[in-house]
Amino acid sequence: MYLDKINLNGKKVLIRVDFNVPLDKTFKVTDDTRIRGAIPTIEYVLQHGGAVILMSHLGRPQKKKLEDGSLDRERFSLKHTVTCLSTLLGQSVDFVDDTIGSKVVSKVDKIQMGDVLVLENTRFYKEEKEGDERFAEQLAKLADIYVNDAFGTAHRAHASTCTVARYFSKGSKAFGFLVKKELESAQRLTNKPLRPFTAIVGGAKVSDKILLLDKLVDTVDNIVIGGGMAYTLIKAQGGEVGNSLFEEDKIQTAKQLLSKAKAKGVRILLPYDSVIADKFDNGASIKVVQSSNIPIGWMGLDIGDKAVEKFEDVIINSKTLVWNGPMGVFEMSNFAKGTSKIAESVVAATENGAFSLVGGGDSVAAINKAGKADQVSFVSTGGGAMLKLLEGVVLPAVGAILD
Ligand code: AMP
Repeated sequence: MYLDKINLNGKKVLIRVDFNVPLDKTFKVTDDTRIRGAIPTIEYVLQHGGAVILMSHLGRPQKKKLEDGSLDRERFSLKHTVTCLSTLLGQSVDFVDDTIGSKVVSKVDKIQMGDVLVLENTRFYKEEKEGDERFAEQLAKLADIYVNDAFGTAHRAHASTCTVARYFSKGSKAFGFLVKKELESAQRLTNKPLRPFTAIVGGAKVSDKILLLDKLVDTVDNIVIGGGMAYTLIKAQGGEVGNSLFEEDKIQTAKQLLSKAKAKGVRILLPYDSVIADKFDNGASIKVVQSSNIPIGWMGLDIGDKAVEKFEDVIINSKTLVWNGPMGVFEMSNFAKGTSKIAESVVAATENGAFSLVGGGDSVAAINKAGKADQVSFVSTGGGAMLKLLEGVVLPAVGAILD
């Protein structure tokens, strides 16, 4: 159920947004992307005659620091987002320095249609992360309608993302436009994707992505694997990976994955060559060798040119692409080339008419660093949530709206 299917006129609308934004030392918002992301949903409610009550978490306030001298209470207060939100909306925005309780209730009682009120950080209450029912019920009592527009926390069964939805009937809860875009984009991968369908998976560890890889084998035609995780698979095939990242205890899992893919006719492409270094440092000595023949004392930190060429060929000929995780240690300039080349070929495939989704882990940082974020079909805002969605999990916050 999406927001545009609900009558909002004269209604108080409680919206779970993701205002978990970075702040500088003077508590100014340094990157307003997430606040901007919520604007279409907020404006829609206002334009359709409703009043907006916003709730979000911000940072990771610690229990002890919330109690002692209120250090985290100042540092992680949602009040720091109010000026930015007010500027973006072009109207005044009210704030209440609590999340539930009498102060909040009296503010909400006085709210007029067209008003915007921001509640204090939901994580100032430990009940938030516990998904506590009484806390959620008090939140729910504030409004007639509940909207979830916080995709970044959709994989968490917290009070404000999940439990609260139980207190609203089916016709009075919905996804906001940001979540709508994320879900619709993910659906393009799961619901009759155009073929060939290629997944590009990288990043540090096989253990973080094994569920994803296993699910992908059921749905895609090709899996291109780079990054540190490739070396566990290369080792599983009998290669020598020197001092590259590899997980001994995942060799068996890697073997099972390779044979499942073979049985299903899914191509798994591993990097033929690697840029290797004698230490984990941008200033290290560098060589390019075959990925299955890395000497002891050396580690693979990026994919080599031959690997890039092979990967490009598969990517460019794909009609659906999903990319999760960098091809190397892209944070260091000497090991960023593989990732940026792959970003270029994802862009080229998109120009050719492919649907491309980038999301999860460090992939968004990688595509931003390559300066290509606006040239792919969709960049997900929620790393962990997108990963879970691609693994085939029903996200708790999504389930709660659909129930
Ligand atoms: P993830 O969050 O799983 O996408 O992993 C991203 C991290 O993997 C980044 O910090 C990369 O620097 C790191 N990474 C990628 N390739 C390698 C590699 N070959 N060796 C070590 N770390 C790597």
